[in-house]
Amino acid sequence: MAWLKLTKTGLYLMKSGSICYVKKVDVSSSNQNPSELRLSVPLDWFSGRDIPGSMVIDLESNEPETCPISATPSGPIAMPLSGKVIVLDPGHGEFHGGINDPGAVNKALGRNERDEVRKQADIIKAKLEAKGAIVKVVENNTGKSLSAIGSEGRGSDCFISLHLNAFNEEVQRHEVFVHTQGTPTDEKLAGLISQALAKVLPIPDAGVKRMGLGVLRGVPLPVPAVLTEGFFIDSVKDTATLDNWNTLAANAIAEGIENFLTA
Ligand SMILES: [Zn+2]
Repeated sequence: MAWLKLTKTGLYLMKSGSICYVKKVDVSSSNQNPSELRLSVPLDWFSGRDIPGSMVIDLESNEPETCPISATPSGPIAMPLSGKVIVLDPGHGEFHGGINDPGAVNKALGRNERDEVRKQADIIKAKLEAKGAIVKVVENNTGKSLSAIGSEGRGSDCFISLHLNAFNEEVQRHEVFVHTQGTPTDEKLAGLISQALAKVLPIPDAGVKRMGLGVLRGVPLPVPAVLTEGFFIDSVKDTATLDNWNTLAANAIAEGIENFLTA
């Protein structure tokens, strides 16, 4: 319960359980009678949740300290992706003929697409969840077909299949695919991710392409669905570059998704 303190200079509304004040009114002297002090009683102090229940009169004391302004936010922080559901499919990682499919590989560096895009999924998930989104990752080793993986996108706000490419250990570029039958919404999502990749990756931008990809065909309409090829893993020359590009690609994909969902 709050309390009151009266001194020669003012009446203070003191914070409950403390010796600091939240409000004050000044005491003034009367013109007719110099020995008489006056103040206006602020009636609003006596309404609300924390009204004063006692008063201390201390005419010898100095003005008390003011209470620090509370740092507690008054409401929830705005979350731009609050309520949005995103499904990420880190590509490959299923068993085929007794071998877990690593996807594209860089033999010289001993790295593969399956493991790198799984790292991308973690980065993207953390980034989007920090903005309030719900992110579901379609895990590997479940024996699901491509269309079954795509169907995991059902009811979500977008589905992203994460991949890296390989060709002849020389070609380098990034590209984003929509299905051959892709909708304008698929193209919009792909375009925003492609733009974000182009901003940060120092490699040629192959833009948005169409292809009859099974995983994208499996995503039920109208869920927007794209497949990213962040870079060609086989032609990266050193692990530092690979790690750097993989992180840059993941952050760019997250940015593209956010731009799409907040447009
Ligand atoms: Zn792949």
